Amino acid sequence: MARARKSEPKADVAIVGAGMGGLIAAIEAAGKGARVTVLDKLGPMIGKGIKAHGFGWFGNETCRAGGGGLDHVEPEMPVEELLAMHLKQGWGRVDLELLRLFHERVLGDIRWLRDDLGLPFTSTGSLFGSILLQTVHVKGRGPGLMRFLYQAAEKRGIEIRFETKVLELLTGDLGEVIGLRARDAGGTRDIHAGAVVLAAGGFEGNNEMMLRYVGPQITYGAVISGCPTNTGDGHQMALEAGAQLTNMSVCHINTTNRLLSEGPTRRLRNIWPGGIYVNKEGQRFIDEGTADSDTLSNAIAYQPGSVAALIFDERARLMDPEAYAAYPYKDKLIRSAATIEELAETIEMPPAQLRRIVNEFNASVEGKAHRLETPPYYAYYPVVPGLNHTLGGVKINTAAQVIDRENRPIAGLYAAGSMVNWSFGKPFTVAGVTSYMGNYHIRSSKKGGALGGLSTALVFGRIAGERAAQAAIKKPKLRKS
Ligand SMILES: Cc1cc2nc3c(=O)[nH]c(=O)nc-3n(C[C@H](O)[C@H](O)[C@H](O)COP(=O)(O)OP(=O)(O)OC[C@H]3O[C@@H](n4cnc5c(N)ncnc54)[C@H](O)[C@@H]3O)c2cc1C
Repeated sequence: MARARKSEPKADVAIVGAGMGGLIAAIEAAGKGARVTVLDKLGPMIGKGIKAHGFGWFGNETCRAGGGGLDHVEPEMPVEELLAMHLKQGWGRVDLELLRLFHERVLGDIRWLRDDLGLPFTSTGSLFGSILLQTVHVKGRGPGLMRFLYQAAEKRGIEIRFETKVLELLTGDLGEVIGLRARDAGGTRDIHAGAVVLAAGGFEGNNEMMLRYVGPQITYGAVISGCPTNTGDGHQMALEAGAQLTNMSVCHINTTNRLLSEGPTRRLRNIWPGGIYVNKEGQRFIDEGTADSDTLSNAIAYQPGSVAALIFDERARLMDPEAYAAYPYKDKLIRSAATIEELAETIEMPPAQLRRIVNEFNASVEGKAHRLETPPYYAYYPVVPGLNHTLGGVKINTAAQVIDRENRPIAGLYAAGSMVNWSFGKPFTVAGVTSYMGNYHIRSSKKGGALGGLSTALVFGRIAGERAAQAAIKKPKLRKS
């Protein structure tokens, strides 16, 4: 962290990162009259799009998407009830103040996107057809959302400097943040600002941080299905300014296939619950009936070679023949055979072992699960864990101010998006593997519910933008006259 002399600011608010969190903060700050500069080390949408910015679904768990558009979205349960449920289900580290604020604001903020900014939503509905995850969809999904936000920012006179990497924060004599140092093709320069908003994403692309905070199994066992250029720069800058980091070990990982970055739990969502997962040695390692895709992916990371095969039969395939038919890369990823033993050979698994495991499974089947006994048999292989993003991050207060290690706000420093701690889940262990129920998807209604990264970035991005603008504009000594 560099020390700099106080000088007139070039911007009221400088924002690190042009993702959802950064752009929302920028638009909000500009709306409050601030001159805003956004810096991003990447070019616009280069290597990002869907991957970095999600699919454009807004988890909207305080609401029920009743069909017919946002006007029909109604709160599903009172905030107090939701919070009580979190307290009961949470793992003791849920920040209830932030959660309350999120629940109180999310619907209004989604409406602000639609009504004030004009963001086109295609529909309301449910994510992956699930009644658990009530959501609204954005036209054009992730890329559509980001393009819309760039244009909205430009219209409001916000300066966005791409291919400009922020290196460090500038601080004043009292430790307050007064700007940042950045490097672009023209060299290194100091940009003074009345307030800085950090919105630099997670640290999934930083092996050193992953090892330090998360551990080797996920660092080396998972492939990055999110944004490999999110290297925790914002976390590091915040740390140097004295910030508190929290829940840094928590990640969101999902099954992937290395080709699509979407494993069977996404594209074959109606088929995968009809199968069993086995590791390279032909051993089952998880109770498929209770595992969500995060738990499953966590467990796969701990298996030999960090790979698994999904074994299913014709009856499971017929649970969703359209999805199966439409599945790209079937030829590369799914083998079929008339017997379990032949199937085992196609994926180089010991045939007798796989037969034994399937027999054991069939003998123990109860309730809704079905036996694997209808040929042909299928093996989806390899299924690997894909690291979407980290969830731990800087501690903020309800004004999105970054909190220091003495629990005081750091003057001039705000944060939003996935670099803010937003892990609100409860750990549980299946087959010796600890996972986090709702680490990414807050359970927030009786049915469940989704707290997506986009909603988090939206709510706290708006707060950060508003508060940063207010702080910057009321600093007469630091303002350009
Ligand atoms: C595969 C996938 C699917 C997803 N699906 C959904 C979904 O359907 N719904 C949902 O709600 N969420 C979803 N998410 C999560 C969601 O995309 C993220 O939580 C959200 O986009 C985070 O926004 P952000 O602004 O915090 O970070 P990002 O969008 O990652 O932006 C951070 C920006 O900071 C920049 N940056 C980093 N360091 C520096 C530096 N030193 N200097 C300058 N710039 C820097 C980066 O280049 C980047 O552009 C998904 C995520 C993934 C990976």
